[in-house]
Amino acid sequence: MSAVINADEARTLLAASIAGQLPDKRGRFGPFGGRYVPETLVPAFDRLEQGIAEHLHTDDFQDEFQSELRTWVGRPTALTHAPRLSERWGAEVWLKREDLAHTGAHKINNAIGQALLAKRLGAKRIIAETGAGQHGVASAAACARVGLPCRVYMGAVDIERQAPNVDRMLRLGAEVFPVETGDRTLRAAIDEALREWVTDPAETYYLIGSAVGAHPYPYLVRELQAVIGTEARAQVIAQAGGLPDATFACVGGGSNAIGLFYPLLGDQDIQLIGVEAGGTGSGLGQNAATLATGTPGVLQGSYSIILQNQDGNVQETHSISAGLDYSGVGPEHAFLQAVGRVKYVAASDDEALAALEELCETEGILTALETAHAYAAARRWAAKNPGKRILIGNSGRGDKDMPTLTQYPVRTSNNAAA
Ligand SMILES: *Cc1c(COP(=O)(O)O)cnc(C)c1O
Repeated sequence: MSAVINADEARTLLAASIAGQLPDKRGRFGPFGGRYVPETLVPAFDRLEQGIAEHLHTDDFQDEFQSELRTWVGRPTALTHAPRLSERWGAEVWLKREDLAHTGAHKINNAIGQALLAKRLGAKRIIAETGAGQHGVASAAACARVGLPCRVYMGAVDIERQAPNVDRMLRLGAEVFPVETGDRTLRAAIDEALREWVTDPAETYYLIGSAVGAHPYPYLVRELQAVIGTEARAQVIAQAGGLPDATFACVGGGSNAIGLFYPLLGDQDIQLIGVEAGGTGSGLGQNAATLATGTPGVLQGSYSIILQNQDGNVQETHSISAGLDYSGVGPEHAFLQAVGRVKYVAASDDEALAALEELCETEGILTALETAHAYAAARRWAAKNPGKRILIGNSGRGDKDMPTLTQYPVRTSNNAAA
């Protein structure tokens, strides 16, 4: 496997991507993606792939999905002009408000879409994995909505760290299953969910939380999240009078970013910038800047860029935001970086905290710590590119981050009254 793409190949592959032809039949985005799973899992993935082909793009399924997005999730989410932030940055800033979606972030678009699909495929129950708990909450809510029992696999360490989200899942009717194996966090939870899936792939549906994993998950999650970019594109033309010069989104596994970017790929004048967690520094283990600093490899069924040491062992990560704290990234992002269509940069814990505070004070929006990374990078870009129109994917709200935020006193430097 080679992750090197020459200039001619890059042009051809990008054109195919813009034309909606990727992933290819093998689930690949150029060299990335595919399906690297044990033999025992192949029938489950084949079944899912066939189910997607049969249902996802039918009028019947889309009508139901769009209706749920409208009347239960609360879509379309607003596009908000940010005049005070714009003045500070010397830019024209617009925010795509996924924080206004039900359960407080973009994750619900994917969760309800997959829950509806699970029903069509005849599943009797849904399993999901969660790290920080946000995807667990979205899955629990979506399963209650469609009337399917939900079991959420969660590392024992995370269960302790994320007690309020565990309570939320339980109240939404889900069962939370503690995972005591491996690192007892997200990676172990995914492995456990896959093990469970193999035992009963016909009646169990595995609801994955980001644009990661083996084919067809990165494709499925992108298709369900693309509503973000489709809406934003139409809204920014209607409200701002034209497309943005640059668009920013934070990248953990990459679902909100691919959802925003994918419908903009063909607008080649728009610079697309994904923002990863720069943590406390550039050393291995100090950040979760997978695309910015990682190397090609296979993680959880997909060939992508991952954080690994020289022996190929997957590296622990650090970020102040739990949702970005992951050592892999979806294969389509590895592809978009390799063909040069999207640029990936990192923002540190401190930059994210400062950006979060600035957005609160200028626009009255408490954004998620994950999202704050996108603001930090956008702010840096605006300083170098004055007078431009900037679109930022505001992936979620920050109420969930209050336990973390209270550890940092409000700084006065950003306070307009100071
Ligand atoms: C989970 C989460 C993310 C990271 O996940 P992606 O799949 O990369 O989008 C980003 N922002 C918020 C608010 C989240 O909850």
